Amino acid sequence: MRLCPICGKEYDSYPALSRKDNRTEICPDCGNREAVEVYTLYSKEGDITFIMEDKKNMTSVVGFYYGDPDEEATKIFRGKLTAEFE
Ligand SMILES: [Zn+2]
Repeated sequence: MRLCPICGKEYDSYPALSRKDNRTEICPDCGNREAVEVYTLYSKEGDITFIMEDKKNMTSVVGFYYGDPDEEATKIFRGKLTAEFE
């Protein structure tokens, strides 16, 4: 049994390497979570920035906000598919 330093779970499958330092062994679940890539997609027509998540073979929209891509706004609206604006 190995112990995952991130979630504290015991697992016996082959460990994944943490992308943060490339040597910490973590459980496959946390490995998958770290493998998620977040990026933004700006639509000029609607002046909307979409927040996208890329997991292996799957892309999903996890949020959006009005205006140009902005790092802070991406953090705030990630995971929220509803946004309030005036
Ligand atoms: Zn874990």
